[in-house]
Amino acid sequence: MNPKIVLASSNPGKVFEFAQILSTCQLEVVPQDQFQVPNVEETGLTFVENALLKARQAAKCTGLPAIADDSGIEVDALHGAPGIYSARFAGPKATDADNNALLLDRLKDVADSDRTARYHCVIVYLRHADDPMPLICHGSWEGQILQAPRGQHGFGYDPLFYVPTHQCSSAELPPEVKNQLSHRAQALRALQRALQLS
Ligand code: IMP
Repeated sequence: MNPKIVLASSNPGKVFEFAQILSTCQLEVVPQDQFQVPNVEETGLTFVENALLKARQAAKCTGLPAIADDSGIEVDALHGAPGIYSARFAGPKATDADNNALLLDRLKDVADSDRTARYHCVIVYLRHADDPMPLICHGSWEGQILQAPRGQHGFGYDPLFYVPTHQCSSAELPPEVKNQLSHRAQALRALQRALQLS
């Protein structure tokens, strides 16, 4: 039987991408909702701190090894915002649509050439809640913020994230293509290498 690990996320978009990217690994990845792990307050000031908080809580509540992802988008014209606040850019209960509308508004006077941005993803793996040596993996993905949403796939800022290498938004990419290229795919590949999984 494959070893079981808990995924410290309740975000359906992330859970779907983890499942797709890790589908070939000999691991049983169980989302934390199946164990009623409560969401932890993200009080860290970096992606690394917040990913650690989430992984530790999931490991503590389940007694299983845990992986957590903290991710977000860094927009150069906004000096790196929304960054770690990406999920709550437009407020604590913001929807993806609210966050996207606010991002477009903040960039309304910014020319295309200055709309550079990148996604970051930090993945933390803890063998147990008191693991003193977490595995920390990072991936980033360069793009630009569009003037209007495009595409139906993905989640979060994907309809606004233009991918220059493929000349479309990340919401226009088929999921299997996004999951080859993305910040999350890169961080997960680094984790697979570190754990020596196939
Ligand atoms: P977290 O759950 O606190 O890590 O917040 C991550 C937030 O960053 C998400 O709610 C999205 O707003 C944004 N984000 C991270 N990764 C992606 C992605 O792959 N596509 C679109 N938005 C993303």
